[in-house]
Amino acid sequence: MNRREFLSTFAAACAVGSMTPAHAAQESLTTLSDGSFALPVNMLSSSADPARVRAALEAAGLSATEHRNPLNVSVLTRGDDVVIFDCGAGPNFMDGAGKLAENLAKAGIAPEKVKHVLFTHAHPDHLWGALDDFGTPAFPEATYHMAAAERDFWMSPEVFRQMPEDRQAFAAGAQRNLKELGSVLKVFKPGAEILPGVAAFETGGHTPGHVSFEVRVGSESLMVLGDALTHPVISFQHPDWRGGFDQEPDRAIATRRRLLDKLATERNRIVGYHLPGGGVGRVEKSGSAYRFVPA
Ligand SMILES: [Zn+2]
Repeated sequence: MNRREFLSTFAAACAVGSMTPAHAAQESLTTLSDGSFALPVNMLSSSADPARVRAALEAAGLSATEHRNPLNVSVLTRGDDVVIFDCGAGPNFMDGAGKLAENLAKAGIAPEKVKHVLFTHAHPDHLWGALDDFGTPAFPEATYHMAAAERDFWMSPEVFRQMPEDRQAFAAGAQRNLKELGSVLKVFKPGAEILPGVAAFETGGHTPGHVSFEVRVGSESLMVLGDALTHPVISFQHPDWRGGFDQEPDRAIATRRRLLDKLATERNRIVGYHLPGGGVGRVEKSGSAYRFVPA
């Protein structure tokens, strides 16, 4: 089986874009894993009573002590070109993460086939895979794209004062990666169509310049969410709880509310970087809140 046949089979098995047979080999969107890491559940919300968090998790059949956080990198294949959304954590963040390179290789995608890398934001598990073990860009033929507001937030000397003690490394790592990318990093504003059929959608709050991407695949439109919705229970059933990793918690809550309403109305498929089962699903209204339905 050659690479094209493999990709075609792979697309048929896992692709989330709707495809006529004619499109099958040309355009698909799927996810590849960068691994996962463990989080104590008390880090899932900074405002909710821990007993309520545990109860919500237990009611959904999830562990009330540890959250296993998956990392899903969206991979858009168009003919021979590949576009990826975020690029994993790289080798220096946490045990269990940083597996994108090996999973791209298993999928038959050489690093130089990746022509564009689109960042939702600059947290370590999304950005630090931008550099390889030698500290040079991991995708040598790629142009990297990030919202200007996100780049500016992390590159400011003020950023260290805005991060808690235990997240100073987030800022140092962001500066190192963004500096090293140099001129291959391009910035955009939300609303811009960055590539044909790929537009940035403002979803700030998790970080100041966080964006999601509306992606047209064949006749389907999907939303690559990044971390606008991070947890399959907490983010959907309790969007008003402050997220444990949200830089601007109140703005993140407003963003979740607005986004959940839009997604439940439009019924388009979503891809969540940290959602289970590869991250693909839909949003449904459920009482006064919402639920994540894998699809
Ligand atoms: Zn993340």
